[in-house]
Amino acid sequence: MDGSARRRLRSALLEVAPWLAAAEVGPQAVEAGRCDACDDRPRLLPTCGPAGPGAVCRDCAVQLGVDGWCEGHQQEGAAALAWAAALPASWAELVILWWVATGEVRPTAWSGLDTSVLPLPIRRSLLLS
Ligand SMILES: [Zn+2]
Ligand SMILES: [Zn+2]
Repeated sequence: MDGSARRRLRSALLEVAPWLAAAEVGPQAVEAGRCDACDDRPRLLPTCGPAGPGAVCRDCAVQLGVDGWCEGHQQEGAAALAWAAALPASWAELVILWWVATGEVRPTAWSGLDTSVLPLPIRRSLLLS
């Protein structure tokens, strides 16, 4: 995937999922890769609680609750959890593709990526590349 294909993918993603533009939460706030707790789904939220595992996926963040954040950041943690709860079911695929669009993850490097659940404009921009 070259630079212009990645740019096309990025704008298609932002159109379908404007929440990807967030800087404090989501794929831009964490290092590209799998959840530090379950090692399965992509990372979504950075945590900072004393017992926090690092950057976690949505399910693991829900399990941690605000305890995933240190005392000074529990308000931010609650806001991050509310933000994550409102994401669509295909959040994981969209997050992985965001990293594909930024060049952090190669499209073939993420095993088990199912793009069939994604909106048509995204699938189209993948086919074009
Ligand atoms: Zn997880
Ligand atoms: Zn903190």
